[in-house]
Amino acid sequence: MTRLSTHDAIVIGAGPAGTSVALTLARRGWAVAIVEKSVFPRRKVCGEYISASNLALLDQLEIGEAWRANAGPEIRRVGLFSGETCAEAPMPPAKDGPPAKEGPPAKDGPRAKKDGFGRALGRDIFDCLLLQAARSAGVEIFQPCRAVAIDPDGEAQLVRIQAGNETTMVRAPVIVAAHGSWEPGSLPSQLGKTNRPSDLFGFKAHVTGSSLAPDLMPLLVFPGGYGGMVSADHGRLSISCCIRRDMLARLRKHPRQQSHLSAAEAVSRHLMESCRGVRDALASADADGPWLAAGPIRPGIRSCYERDIFRVGNAAGESHPVIAEGISMALQSGWLLACELSCAPSGRAGRELAGRRYEAAWKSLFSTRVYAAAALAGVAVSPGSATLMAAIVRNFPQALTLGAQLSGKTKLVPGFV
Ligand SMILES: Cc1cc2nc3c(=O)[nH]c(=O)nc-3n(C[C@H](O)[C@H](O)[C@H](O)COP(=O)(O)OP(=O)(O)OC[C@H]3O[C@@H](n4cnc5c(N)ncnc54)[C@H](O)[C@@H]3O)c2cc1C
Repeated sequence: MTRLSTHDAIVIGAGPAGTSVALTLARRGWAVAIVEKSVFPRRKVCGEYISASNLALLDQLEIGEAWRANAGPEIRRVGLFSGETCAEAPMPPAKDGPPAKEGPPAKDGPRAKKDGFGRALGRDIFDCLLLQAARSAGVEIFQPCRAVAIDPDGEAQLVRIQAGNETTMVRAPVIVAAHGSWEPGSLPSQLGKTNRPSDLFGFKAHVTGSSLAPDLMPLLVFPGGYGGMVSADHGRLSISCCIRRDMLARLRKHPRQQSHLSAAEAVSRHLMESCRGVRDALASADADGPWLAAGPIRPGIRSCYERDIFRVGNAAGESHPVIAEGISMALQSGWLLACELSCAPSGRAGRELAGRRYEAAWKSLFSTRVYAAAALAGVAVSPGSATLMAAIVRNFPQALTLGAQLSGKTKLVPGFV
């Protein structure tokens, strides 16, 4: 059976990018629908660290207090665990200065609270907080429903969504792709498949009982990949990493095993065997749920507006997770787009104007960190340079503080003071 509902905007995906744009538009009086294929709460491949530079935006989205109440300890030190190297340096606090000149106006932006340091909160909790706030703001939520097609329909567009055997059509002039970038699909905004030896797969697990210092977030560098560990909510430690396709295949064919190891088993063994810091931190830890896998990930900068579809979060562009800034970029890109859309004239010309302005704001805020992350990831996965990196950091740990600054951890969102 097919039914039709009409909205001002339809957002596909209820990750941080989708809920950020939907919430902001709904609070400005737009009729918004979110289409999300998964049932929440759901765990997700993600390190779950959120930079303090997002706190003013979380307050604006009215989940700041809930985030503060639930998130893990403040992360005041950044580290590197690689081979036998365990180095650390201070994490730079978020700036508390004036807003950047570019970007949307700060009409309804509150003053930033002085939260200088980032913290981690499980995506099973964080994404639910955001979606609940969207629901309270009047966003209509279609869940679990998968968006499978987008077609023009006069001045608007039709999105076909499926839940089991039931198909529903939702209609709006503004369509926002917030479906992430790790799964191929039939939508024009989704990426095609890739199959290269250098592709990176993402893995993640939660453990309890780790001995990692609660205020330390080490970068993990190991043969064929990189990752991170951070203390999150409720005593959980989040450990996540990316590993090359060819390395993963090699690790799964363990020479002493008759059959192949599972991908998760191969990755967790590799991390323990190749980083002393991981071995020490997890020596008496217990798994809290199974390992999750995703990918291949698709770092890079894509179009922000194409074929009359806006893109936010990973769908618009993605930095290598080596800098743990994907949630920031998702939240902030959703906010930037909502600001541009809400002050643009209606109609196709207005959408094109909003698209151009949003793309310019996106590039000015995020391009540097995408390039910096690509350079750092390149060093981390290349065997010779990873050894050199560990040697540099051992002798000059302040390089870690500088790296955190370059990754955008201290950069406030335009429009917030
Ligand atoms: C190993 C690893 C570690 C990371 N660690 C961190 C970190 O510590 N900090 C950080 O900031 N970032 C981190 N990231 C990056 C971060 O996870 C992503 O950048 C972030 O999740 C992107 O948010 P998003 O809203 O764009 O997409 P997502 O969070 O991927 O959300 C997309 C949503 O869309 C839904 N969806 C997809 N297709 C459809 C469809 N057709 N119809 C309906 N719904 C659909 C999905 O179910 C999902 O809920 C990490 C990434 C990896 C791989």
